[in-house]
Amino acid sequence: MTSPVMKTTANTTTRTTTHTTTAPVTAAIDKPRRKNPVLRTRQINLPPGARGRVALGFTAAAAEGRFALQACERCAAVQYPPREACHRCLSTELTWRDQPDGGHLVCTTTLRHSNDLFFRERLPWRLGLVRLDAGPTVMVHLHGEVGGEPGRIRVGARIDRAGMAVLIGYPEQGSAHMADDRMLREMTSDPRFRKVLVTDGKSAVGQAIVRAFVEAGADLVWVGHAEPWKKLGGLDDIGALPQVTLVPLDLTDGRSVTELAGEIAGKVDIVVNNAEVHRTFGIAARRGTDVARAEMDINYFGLLRLAQEFGPALKGRSADGLASATAWVNLLSIYALSSFPTHGTFSASKAAAYSLSQCLRAEMRPAGIRVVNVFPGPIDDDWNQHVPPPKLAPIALANAIVKALRDGVEDVYPGDVAQEWLARWRDNPKVLERELAGEG
Ligand SMILES: [Zn+2]
Repeated sequence: MTSPVMKTTANTTTRTTTHTTTAPVTAAIDKPRRKNPVLRTRQINLPPGARGRVALGFTAAAAEGRFALQACERCAAVQYPPREACHRCLSTELTWRDQPDGGHLVCTTTLRHSNDLFFRERLPWRLGLVRLDAGPTVMVHLHGEVGGEPGRIRVGARIDRAGMAVLIGYPEQGSAHMADDRMLREMTSDPRFRKVLVTDGKSAVGQAIVRAFVEAGADLVWVGHAEPWKKLGGLDDIGALPQVTLVPLDLTDGRSVTELAGEIAGKVDIVVNNAEVHRTFGIAARRGTDVARAEMDINYFGLLRLAQEFGPALKGRSADGLASATAWVNLLSIYALSSFPTHGTFSASKAAAYSLSQCLRAEMRPAGIRVVNVFPGPIDDDWNQHVPPPKLAPIALANAIVKALRDGVEDVYPGDVAQEWLARWRDNPKVLERELAGEG
């Protein structure tokens, strides 16, 4: 038997529940009450986070929304928890492979006491023992809609607030309010009832993102726009939505970022940094560094300015009840992994932003704030006119961001092109570099 919360269960008294035959349906959560501003915001207690290096392979797959377990190359045994060697034949040739997510629920139990502060604040907490179709028997956190044993169940790997993968047991078919489950909301960053800042509402992508968050039930969406004197198509339509407030925000201007942070940073639950400059040049096609500087100024320094002003405020509110601060989303690019020479300076700025986002992730993790990086391929916008299809539609990109927050995923590669580049990059980064040098 293996446990997703080994440290906790070892120190915990449990009591087996009496089981109901019909699965309960999740009650929709109500809009959280306005907070008393005088009350102090609690510090977050993270779930147990320490994992060995081998176990981080499980977390790496979960970060992309995949359910992968170690499979033995020698005898084909599948195992969990992760180990250095095969539990059956002791071979060390182990590979992380995606696994079927079905299983049989063997038994359930409800924690009513825990020595771990994270669980103590969230009791009662249900756990289940599941015999996976893939082979191993594992302990999972149970969604409230999972009934008693025996029964079929789906198992998924999710990243918890400590940034570590845990196993969650879902009902085979969930209800409409499935995402409102109390345990699941602790593990994900659902936009429902949350307040969101989208840093650029002028672009087609920005407007699609705003609409996707409104549709997902966001309580309020602040939409940044630089150069407010410019009349741009679509921004007025977005501004007319009841949930939306347009705010001046110029990421190239430190004072603009500081001023907006002074007004709203203490209320933002999700930051979506989608502001970007994208020009299509390599090195030789243009003289001087002005364009490259403009890309860096938004794509890299813009993220840095934003993170310095909004990061600390988010970290301070990560335990603020049902609508706590929860996530930071960066719109990067698949070109961040390997330069696309005809978009060379843009690729470089996104590679710099990617590196900085990893630093941001490391700094936000102790506070339980998830940093989600999005790596789209060419987007169907003005700057990719000369790139042949397939191109990613802004609405598809926006929906991928909302889905990632709901699923508790860290790295998103939306669209076929991004998926294909990722596969080629994983296979051999050097080969991809040579291939891209020949394209465009
Ligand atoms: Zn083996």
